Formats: sequence, C-alpha cells, structure tokens
Amino acid sequence: MNIGKAISGAFVLQSSLGRTMAIFMLLLLTAVLIVSAWTLDRSWQRKLHDTESDAVNLSVSQARQAEDTFLQTEIVLRAMQREIPDDGPNSVDKSAINTILAEMKSSLPQLNGLFIYDAQGNWIAASASHVPGAMNNSDREYFIYHRQNRHGGVHIGHVIRSRTSGDLVIPVSLRLNDAAGGFTGVALATVRVDAFRRFYSYFELGDGDLLALLLDDGAALYVRPFPDAFINRSLSASPLFTIQLMRSDRGKGAWRSALDNKERIFGYARSGQYPLIVAAGFDKSELWTEWLHDSLPDLVLNGTLLLIIILIGALVLRQVRTNVENQIELTALRDELTTINQTLQAMALLDGLTGLANRRQFDIFLAQSLKQSALSGEPMALIMLDIDYFKLYNDSWGHVAGDNCLRRVGETLKNIPVRQTDLIARYGGEEFAIILPGATLEAAQRIAESAVEAVRAIAIPHPGTRPGTVTISAGGFALNASGEAQEAQQIKEGADRALYQAKHHGRNQAVMLPS
Ligand code: GH3
Ligand code: MG
Ligand code: MG
Repeated sequence: MNIGKAISGAFVLQSSLGRTMAIFMLLLLTAVLIVSAWTLDRSWQRKLHDTESDAVNLSVSQARQAEDTFLQTEIVLRAMQREIPDDGPNSVDKSAINTILAEMKSSLPQLNGLFIYDAQGNWIAASASHVPGAMNNSDREYFIYHRQNRHGGVHIGHVIRSRTSGDLVIPVSLRLNDAAGGFTGVALATVRVDAFRRFYSYFELGDGDLLALLLDDGAALYVRPFPDAFINRSLSASPLFTIQLMRSDRGKGAWRSALDNKERIFGYARSGQYPLIVAAGFDKSELWTEWLHDSLPDLVLNGTLLLIIILIGALVLRQVRTNVENQIELTALRDELTTINQTLQAMALLDGLTGLANRRQFDIFLAQSLKQSALSGEPMALIMLDIDYFKLYNDSWGHVAGDNCLRRVGETLKNIPVRQTDLIARYGGEEFAIILPGATLEAAQRIAESAVEAVRAIAIPHPGTRPGTVTISAGGFALNASGEAQEAQQIKEGADRALYQAKHHGRNQAVMLPS
C-alpha cells in the first residue's frame, strides 16, 4: 500500500491539526518578524535622534567658537578705530600705527593681518612689516560696503586671497568716520581660513561628515572636509536656507547637501552676534553602515530565531503529516481488513470446489431450520444426494476429472428449482444435501427427483453406470421438529437411510422415507 506517498502537503493542511499548527506557526513567525522589525526600527530611529542631537550640539558649540573668534577680532578693530584721529587716517603717524597694528596682530593667532585704508582705498597702515606702496583696495567688496553704509557695525565679507600673504582670509572690517559721521576710511582685520581648518580638524568626524562655517547670505567661509574650491560657494538654495533657517535659528533635519548631493543628518545654529551660521552634517549612508555593524549581533540573533521557528515549524508539520499519513493508512488498512474478514467469513461458509454452502453452513442452517420448524409447527425436509460409483469414476478418469465432475454436479444442483429459503450444500466428498424448511415429504420428493433428473440430463460419461453417464441417488426425510437436541441427528439418519435404499434399489433414483 502506498497511500502515504499520494498525500500532498496541501492535504496535511486539510487536516484540522495540520491547519491549526500551520496557522500557529505562521502567527508566531509574523509576531517574531514584527517584534524584530519594530526593535530594529526603534534602534535606527534612536541612532538618528542621537545623531541629530550630536549635530545640533556640535553646530551650537562651533557657532559659539566662531562668535568668540570674531568678537576678539572686533575688539582689535575697535581698538584700531580709536587710534585713528577724527579727521581721518591720513594724518596718523604711520610708523607708530604700524607698530601698534603689528603688536595687536601678534596677540591673536587667527589674524592674518590688520590694515587701515583712507577714504580712497589707499593703504595707510598695516600689521605687516612691509607695506606695499601705492596699493589701493577701493575695489574690495568690504570697502565699497562701508563707503555706502553708514552703520558702525562690523562687516564680515566673503573669503578673499590676501594681497600681502596670498592666504585665504575672511575680511572683517569697520567703517572709519570723521566727527560729522563722514566716511574717512576702513579698518580691516583678515582672519585666516586656516584657523578654522585647524580648529575643525580637532574633531573626530567620518569621511562623509561635514562641518561648515557659512555667512548668512549662504556663502561658504569654510567647509570641512571639502577642498578650497568649495569656499565662497553659495548654499543659499539648500534646504538649510530655504526652509530650516526660515523657521528657527537653530535646529536639525535631514536633507541632501547642496555641495555633493549626499544625504546627511544636519544640526545648525545661527550666531546671535554676527551674520554667521554653522552647520554640522553626518553622512546618513555612513551612519547606516555603522548602525548595521552595531546591530549585527541583533540581526544575527533575530535571523537565527526566525530560522529556528521555521525549522521547528517544518518539523512539526512533517510530524503532523506523518500522523495524518499514518491515520489514513490505518483507516485504509482497517477497511481492507474488514473486506478481507467479510470475504473470509463468506469463504468459511462456502465450499471451495463447487461454491455451494459447505458443511459448516449446512450444520448451522439445519439447526436454524429445525428451530424454525419447532416454533412454526411446519414440517421441514432434508435430501441427501450421492454420486453413484464415483470411486470408479475417479479410478477411470483420474482425480482431476473427478473434481471437475463434482463441480459440474454442484453447478447443476444450483440450478434446480428450489425456494429462496432452501439451502443446497456440499455435505462432504461426493455427497450433497438440500435443506428444505417448511417442506413436506412430497415437496421434497419433487425436488429430489428433479435433482436426479437434472444430473442425468447433463450426461457426463461414466463407464460404470447403466445409462453410461454420471447419475446420483437421493434419499429424503421430513419431520415436524419439536425443538429437541437430537432432531438434527434424527433427520440426517432418516435421509441417509432413504439414500441407502435408493442405492440398494439400483441407484439413479430418489427414495423418500416417512418419519
Ligand atoms: P456408491 O455408488 O455406493 O456411492 O459408490 P461410490 O464409489 O460412489 O462410493 P465410495 O464411498 O466407495 O467412494 C466414494 C469415492 O468418492 C471415494 C473418493 O475417491 C471419491 N471422492 C470423495 N471426495 C472426492 C473429491 O473431492 N474429489 C474426487 N475426485 N473424488 C472424491
Ligand atoms: Mg458416498
Ligand atoms: Mg457414491
């Protein structure tokens, strides 16, 4: 039997146990997946949040640091302003003021130089020992700015290349006025970009992380780690200027850098004192890689857990499948056994050679018929039939032919007209019997004679009988049973006696004996 193989996985799901287990496993798997995804997402969100806080803190501290740097510069510029007499810088003692400027410059390492220009942009004094003669800075943006703007505040300009040292510098300047407020020149301090470069290099930042000092018009004064080519690049179109700074002076967010289109987590802060903005940005892809690296143990753990659940699920479902297969196999086996049992039961009551009822069935049926006769008060009859000279037949044609002859006689007896309630049996050897419940002796005689007649009619050749064909003799006996135990014996002996007489009177005939 190969029923097991015919059972598919889908069939397992049709069993209620299989379905319950599958749903349970699926729910467990989904729950673990959701919890894992939720935990990992929370850890990533926490990482983003922490990074945003770091970015804000860094930008705020750097905005303060920039404020300090420019405040120190402003103090120097104010001191320079005080050195200039009311009628303008042209009347100062140039060598004295040069010395003062040189001293002032040496007190602040971030300074590249200190300069004083007159109203026409001519160099009047400078901190450098050598003052280039006939130099004119009236074309510089800061000069034009102060000439046009009366306000007395500090002006911070875009990065320029110093005409004295060639360095990149941030010009910080103040307007010089006469007593009436008229423009008499400009005091200028140039702050080295290198000062910020050096300062920003102290921080441990990733390759893709960014720290930028910007003017509030969007111009980059310095952006770490970008090369100098990015200095003065305008970032006014970036979300920092178009969205974030519109909302608040400090904050955080994530956007693509205008400089390299990289997505970063930003923190930013605007200086309250100067038109400066500091932005710190952490590379999101680097952050992601770092987070993945940190979360690897969690990921491996969750993956292993999922794998274990899938494995257990597969094992359980396989077990269920085996159980279902076993159950189906057992059911089929039981059905098969039932069929075999029924066949065996039937076979136990039938004679193998002729297919007629066997001796066992004969005995049971005879007992039942006697009981029925005793109860109903009706008579019953028994006919015994015996093939004549059968030993001779066997001796003449052999036992195989003898068996065939028995089969044919049995077949013939099956066809004689008896009632449904009558039973034709092979009694044993070459003897047959017919039990006729409710039959009188006369009725039995008719049946017996028709049996003798029917066997004669099939005319199986026989060398030892008078007609030259196989014949049978029949003896019949009838009684009205009273329910006594010996009645089975009595009716059998009666029929046997009648049969003996039939033999004695020449065979090939039926004899009935009255009880
Ligand atoms: P009678 O006319 O007096 O009945 O003579 P008979 O030869 O038929 O009687 P006997 O009792 O002397 O012999 C019966 C024979 O039936 C003996 C046995 O060889 C044969 N026989 C009994 N059962 C079978 C069987 O199943 N197959 C075959 N081939 N022969 C059988
Ligand atoms: Mg016999
Ligand atoms: Mg015989």
